[in-house]
Amino acid sequence: MPLCEEAADLVDTEADIYGRPQRLTKEAFHAWKGMKAGAAADGVTLFLISAFRGIDYQHDVIARKLRGGRSIEEVLQVNCAPGYSEHHTGRAIDVGTTGCDALVEAFEFTEAFRWLESNGNEYSFFMSYPRKNQFGIKYEPWHWCFQKREK
Ligand SMILES: [Zn+2]
Repeated sequence: MPLCEEAADLVDTEADIYGRPQRLTKEAFHAWKGMKAGAAADGVTLFLISAFRGIDYQHDVIARKLRGGRSIEEVLQVNCAPGYSEHHTGRAIDVGTTGCDALVEAFEFTEAFRWLESNGNEYSFFMSYPRKNQFGIKYEPWHWCFQKREK
C-alpha cells in the first residue's frame, strides 16, 4: 500500500453526522461542496461521515480493536495501518446518504452511490477500494478520494 502523508494544510468543513468537526484540504473541500450541491440538484442527498483522520487517531482505533480481542489480520482488512490510510491526506471522505446506515456495503444499492458512480469523477473524486482491489482492503463503496488527475 502506498504511504499516505498527513496533510499539513486543512480547512474546517461542515460537522459530520455526529456533530464532530471535520477537516479536509482546501481543494478537496471545495470539490466536495461542489459535488454535494451537484447531487442535491439531482435530488440526491450526500453527507459527510468522516474526512481527515490523523496518524495518531488511526493508531488508537486499531489499538482499541486489538484490545477488544480481534486479531491484527482481521483489523487490517478494514483499517489501514497508521500511515497508510487515505484519510491522513485530507482528501478522502466517507460519504453517507439518507435511508442507509453509515459505512455499510449496502450503500452500493443507494441512489447516492449510483449518482457518485456516474458523476464522482467529474468532481475528481474516485472510489479507492472497489471489489477485489489491489490493496486487499474490503470493498468500501462509501470511501472516495479527491485526486487531481486527467479525466
Ligand atoms: Zn474511508
